[in-house]
Parts: sequence; C-alpha cells; structure tokens
Amino acid sequence: MNGAAAMPYDFDLFVIGAGSGGVRAARIAASHGASVAIAEEYRVGGTCVIRGCVPKKLLVYGAHFAEDLKDARRFGWNVPDCDFDWTVLRNNVLADVDRLEGMYGNTLESHNVRLFRERATITGVHSVTLASGRAITAKYILIATGAWPMLPEIEGAEHGITSNEVFHLDECPRRVVIAGGGYIANEFAGIFNEFGAHVTLVNRSDQMLRGYDAQIRDRLLQISLSKGINFRFNAPLERVGKREDGTLRVHIRDGDPIDCDLLIFATGRRPKSDELGLEDVGVELDGKGAIRVDDHSRTSVESIYAVGDVTDRVQLTPVAIREGHAFADTVFGGNPRTVDYGCIPSAVFSHPPIAAVGMTEAEARDRLGAVKVYTSDFRAMKNVLAGRDERALYKMVVDAATERVVGLHMIGPDAPEILQAAAVAVKAGLTKQAFDDTIALHPSMAEELVLLR
Ligand code: FAD
Repeated sequence: MNGAAAMPYDFDLFVIGAGSGGVRAARIAASHGASVAIAEEYRVGGTCVIRGCVPKKLLVYGAHFAEDLKDARRFGWNVPDCDFDWTVLRNNVLADVDRLEGMYGNTLESHNVRLFRERATITGVHSVTLASGRAITAKYILIATGAWPMLPEIEGAEHGITSNEVFHLDECPRRVVIAGGGYIANEFAGIFNEFGAHVTLVNRSDQMLRGYDAQIRDRLLQISLSKGINFRFNAPLERVGKREDGTLRVHIRDGDPIDCDLLIFATGRRPKSDELGLEDVGVELDGKGAIRVDDHSRTSVESIYAVGDVTDRVQLTPVAIREGHAFADTVFGGNPRTVDYGCIPSAVFSHPPIAAVGMTEAEARDRLGAVKVYTSDFRAMKNVLAGRDERALYKMVVDAATERVVGLHMIGPDAPEILQAAAVAVKAGLTKQAFDDTIALHPSMAEELVLLR
C-alpha cells in the first residue's frame, strides 16, 4: 500500500474487476502516476480473455477446418478422412487462455498495480472491503465488473449451461440445443455444427441478430440452414427435463420437444451490479441493473466511476477498453476525454462471418429519409473452385443527400478482417465516390467494396 503518511487514502484508485475495461483503466491510471489497486474474484483478463472473445474465436478457427479440409481436396490435396478430437482443441485453447491470463497479470505488475485476487464490495464512497475482510480506501473507485449470462426462469433451467461453461466440456456433444438469437447463439451454432453435432437454435421471436441488416441476417439464415443447422422461431422455452439416460428434453411452446445432449443458454447478459453494495452508497442503476453514468463514466456518486458491460452502453471489448482508457486520462491524466460511440464495427463469427458498421438500410431510411443502397452478391473465387455454393453479400448504405456512406454490411469469408479497414472510411465520413475512386486490389473479395453498383 501507499505508505505516504500525508495521503488520506490507501490508493488513488481502486478498480473492481480485472477485465477488459478494468485492466486498461488501471494500467493507464498507473502510467499517469496514480497509485492503483485492482480486485479480481475469478481470473485476470475478464470475460473476453477467459470465457469470451478469445476462446470463442479459437473454437471458430478450429471449427472452420471442417470446411477447409473438405475444400482442400478440390485444390488437389489428398486429404484422408479426418477425425476431430475435441479434447485436443479444448486443452490447447485453455492453455492459450492461461498464457494470456499470465500476460495480463504481468502487465498489471509491471505498472505497479497492486492485485488482490478476491472479490471486492463497496462499503463507502471511498472504501471497499475484500472477501477476506480487509478494508481499503481510495480516492476514486472504478466499477468494471462486467456482465453475467441470464438464464430464463423456467423449470429445469439448471440442466443447461451458458457460455461460461462451454469451453470446458468433457466431450463434444452429439445433439445441441442453443437458446437465443444473438451473436453468441449463432456463433456456437456454427461452431458445433462444424464439429459435426446436430444443432438446433431455438429463438423466442421470429427474428435473430437484431441490430444487423435484414438482408445480411437472412443470408446467414439461408446458409446456416443449408449447412444443416435447424432453427425454431417463435419458440419460447417452457421447461427442460432430464431423462434417465442423462439426455435432455427441451419443451418449447407450440412445438414438438427437442431431445439433446447439451443445452446452451445464450439468452442475454445482465450487468453484474448486484451485491456490490451500490444501493448503500447511492450509486444509481437503471431498470436493467446497469450503472447509470455520465459521458465521463462518472456514476451518481462523485468518487465512483463505472466502465464496460456493467454500464450496458455497448457490450463489446474494444468499447470497454476505450471507456477505461478515457476514464484514466480524464481523472488522472489531466486530459478529459469522452468515448465516441458512432460507427462501432461489430461482427458475428458465424460460418461465414458477418461484419457491419454504421446504419442498416432500415435505420438509414428511418433517420435520413432518402438513401441509396448498393450491393454485391457474389461467390468468392475460392468457394467457386471448391464447389461450395455459398454466396457472399456486401451492402453499402449511402445518404442520398450527401453521398456519404453511412453503413457497410457484409457476410462472407473474412468479412470482419475486411470490414475493420473499411470502417475507417465510414467513420471518416467518406462518400461513395471516394470508394469508387480507389482502384481495386485484384483478385480479392475486398475489391467488391470499390466496385459496388
Ligand atoms: P469483463 O471483461 O467481464 O470483466 C469483469 C471482471 O470483473 C471479471 O473478470 C469478473 O470476474 C470481475 N468481477 C466481477 N465482480 C467482481 C467483484 N465484486 N470483485 C472482484 N472482481 C469482480 N466482445 C467483442 O468485442 N468481440 C467478441 O467477439 C466477443 N465475444 C464474446 C463471446 C462471449 C461468449 C462472451 C460472453 C462475450 C463476448 N464479448 C465479445 C463481450 C466482451 O467479452 C465484453 O464486452 C467485455 O469483456 C467487457 O469487458 P468489461 O471490462 O466490462 O468486463
């Protein structure tokens, strides 16, 4: 602890939660000269590193080999029939997660951030208490506790798992039911389908991937169906039963029950704001349990800030990191900064993946009135030779009044890799003409972006 007798607090900053937002805030605050401590109740790195983006993306890579190995034969490779061993992939992924956790720990250590590997709760506007009972004071407290999967309140919900557990399965299930219609549901549907499981995605409404462009969503649905993923729409879960042989029977409204070996709930994530002591110190929450903050991430209590998923602004890692960084610059760096939430690119790592930035066509029509839409509906060269009947779709939405590109929406191989670069142009407010003026890089899929008609 900071031993300076004159200092009224143990630390300048106490961060609760060593995930994406908390680690960045702690590191930057320390680099501005603040004395910083951080508490983590589970593993350093948080959701993204331990049980989110990173292990998920590694499984996506692993899953895609199912298609690559098949396609390789059309490119002349003599590929014998291959087996997939889940335990090898799982263990390698978990080992990489361990490696990254170590790196995050080293980063904190090298910035002299004091790490407490235990749960913390807030006990005063300048004080926290650790699970061990130790009380610590700080000039500022930052809440970066993330979000937690929500389970539907139905009979037998305890038989299902969430994304928290999915990376630790003993074996790859034969039949999987995934409840939900968001990006996590679709990503795991793709992963297990590629591993050869019989996958059924069960969604309570008739629409999945809300927020993404309707045409792109529909293309994913068509491709997923053709790959053998089953969908049940308008099918709220009613109950889950466990049968004598250990398998599950999932009952849905107005439909036949579905038998499976594994049920995954991907039914949303709630801000992790409960049992933190927030009510006692007067930190306000919204109706969904998200901590209310101002543009500088300050809560209703002057000395307490919050960043990341617990504030439910945009639940993505790069956003949590930006918010944590801006907080540290503002409070400790003498450089008040806010986060610009415009044009945040995002992806669905399905097979093939989706990537998008800016307004969908429907949003643009709603907000701007007159819009122009340009599309390219094509089969990637590689898919043509592979005999894979899977078409990519790129879509550009342009404000008719200004000719500015206000949205880009893509589904196809490597779409997230391509979109990240194109998102710079959309964020910069470039026009369709600027895209057209750029000479194509041939042959590539990305060239479609400058050839849109
Ligand atoms: P977290 O990273 O969740 O960190 C919060 C930390 O606080 C946790 O480590 C938790 O253990 C700790 N904690 C909580 N309460 C306490 C307490 N009282 N005391 C001490 N410690 C506490 N985002 C993307 O951008 N791209 C993706 O591809 C992507 N894929 C995802 C896939 C899955 C399956 C999931 C679940 C999420 C995914 N996300 C993705 C979202 C991303 O992981 C989160 O937006 C991001 O991790 C939020 O960061 P955070 O700092 O707010 O919280």
